[in-house]
Amino acid sequence: MQVEDDKEEEIFTIKACRCKRCGGILLSDYGLKHKMGHVCKAKYDLENSSIDENQITFDDILSEETEVLH
Ligand SMILES: [Zn+2]
Repeated sequence: MQVEDDKEEEIFTIKACRCKRCGGILLSDYGLKHKMGHVCKAKYDLENSSIDENQITFDDILSEETEVLH
């Protein structure tokens, strides 16, 4: 039995936006909500607060950064 009408490709619409900080593509709910990835949000919060920088090093944050997770 042939089902010729069933050839339609599924097309997904995925919400995405660009990270305000690094310009990377954000696909996660978190990214869409904050317009920044986890790591960039953490850095942003750090930069916009007056807590001392020794608490979290940027190297720790950067090591987790990938093209998708930012
Ligand atoms: Zn980013």
